[in-house]
Amino acid sequence: MLSGILKKEDCASCRFCCSFRRTSLWETPIFTEENITAIEADNRLNSEVLNIVEKDGFKFASYDLGNDYKTQDSFEEVPCPYLGENGCTLSSEEKPWDCKIWPLRVMKKDQEPVIALTPTCPTINSLSIETVRQYVNDDLRNDILDYAKDHPYLIKKYRQDYPVI
Ligand code: SF4
Ligand code: SF4
Repeated sequence: MLSGILKKEDCASCRFCCSFRRTSLWETPIFTEENITAIEADNRLNSEVLNIVEKDGFKFASYDLGNDYKTQDSFEEVPCPYLGENGCTLSSEEKPWDCKIWPLRVMKKDQEPVIALTPTCPTINSLSIETVRQYVNDDLRNDILDYAKDHPYLIKKYRQDYPVI
């Protein structure tokens, strides 16, 4: 979604955001009902890793990596079950919105959804916040906020170290 300011080559040499430390398990992506249906229909994929929840009229899912760590090292990273040798193995219909908008996040701040920028993406954070804000304003802001309002379970709790853009 951010291809205008985030090149594939940068991600290929980084791949940071498809693996998770214990402290970033809250960042594992949420799969919408449409993602779940598409994954279940795809014979290539293991849908059993998804823990499905039905709440407030919505069906969604996530996976739990908590038992997959092999050491006590807080820097140990466990990959997403859908990460393959050449990157994400999911199609567009299967891929979570969380992953599509990364490194942006929609977070609830002062009771309102805001778009925030994760501080951990090295590529986006090498740009000025104004450059990112301008890109989002021009192309994405309304689409992202409308989608989040229609899927409120995707909105995360605000974190102080995430600048609002
Ligand atoms: S952290 Fe940023 S540069 Fe690295 S893979 Fe993720 S989006 Fe790409
Ligand atoms: S679903 Fe794909 S893009 Fe998202 S974390 Fe997993 S491998 Fe990465």
